Amino acid sequence: MNRFAQQLAAHHIDHRADLQRETLLTLQLNLGRRCNQACRHCHVDAAPWRTEMMEADTAARIAEWIRDHRPPIVDITGGAPEMNEHFRFLVETARASGARVIDRCNLTILEEDGFGWVAEFLAANEVEVIASLPCYLEENVRRQRGDGVFTKSIAALRRLNALAYGTRLPLHLVYNPTGPTLPPPQAELEADYKEALARDHGIIFNRLFTITNQPIARFADDLRRQNRWDEYLDLLAVNFNPATVEGLMCRTTLSVGWRGELYDCDFNQMLEMPLGGGRPLHLWDVTPVDLAGRAIQTGAHCLACTAGCGSSCTGTVTNQLLTF
Ligand code: SF4
Ligand code: SF4
Repeated sequence: MNRFAQQLAAHHIDHRADLQRETLLTLQLNLGRRCNQACRHCHVDAAPWRTEMMEADTAARIAEWIRDHRPPIVDITGGAPEMNEHFRFLVETARASGARVIDRCNLTILEEDGFGWVAEFLAANEVEVIASLPCYLEENVRRQRGDGVFTKSIAALRRLNALAYGTRLPLHLVYNPTGPTLPPPQAELEADYKEALARDHGIIFNRLFTITNQPIARFADDLRRQNRWDEYLDLLAVNFNPATVEGLMCRTTLSVGWRGELYDCDFNQMLEMPLGGGRPLHLWDVTPVDLAGRAIQTGAHCLACTAGCGSSCTGTVTNQLLTF
């Protein structure tokens, strides 16, 4: 029994009966591993030299599925998803089908040569932007994401503000800790971010999402190199909060890999734990109705979603802190 399953059992939560997929809310598309950055804590091991990218025939089949099944939210991620040549086609298809569309944007891509079109394209299609900015202090961003990233991120945020992001259009920021700790309380940190970014840079945004680092991929390598793997897993387990289980994002999100293959979440995708646990299924093999009631594939990494106030792609899961 893995450490997540142990915590469920200790809190009398039946894995099969109490942790199942529900009605589909969010179709999350991972367009590939290529990114203009190579951050220390990247949970997808993305980098400029990665070659795994969604191809035209896969994008076309996904677009057809979106037109047929109309998921309420289409959440597009990567890597830097804007680097995929089918990004615009998928955004336009999802918007035309009536979906809310989210772009998980690293901000610096807006400042790269050849990507000057991105900000205007997002605004014209009323795409919601969820942008990573691991701190409002330059030094902390430099340590996690590299030299020059903070300056480019600020320039990109100004450009988004000028296009009505943060006012008429939604602009949310994402924080994750720089080390093996839990994030601070989301509401308090959001207030700090808002004050510092407005005061120092004249930038406004809507919400801050705090996300707990998943012990997978590059962050897991970092933990092992520092000999802090056990310490981090202990921290997550000790802070297991049963009140988070009901709101876990894997209940209502379907994660689609760059070849169209399916997972319960982006983290399971990185760990190659396919939906259902058997042979990999593809998006075109299922309908939303097929998904409800399926057991969710879990592992020790799930402790990152249930520690403290919980963690998901849209920040904390609950305000109820029940740890005992
Ligand atoms: S964390 Fe985001 S910006 Fe950094 S390498 Fe990974 S995908 Fe790219
Ligand atoms: S990592 Fe989180 S979102 Fe993914 S299956 Fe585990 S609990 Fe669910």
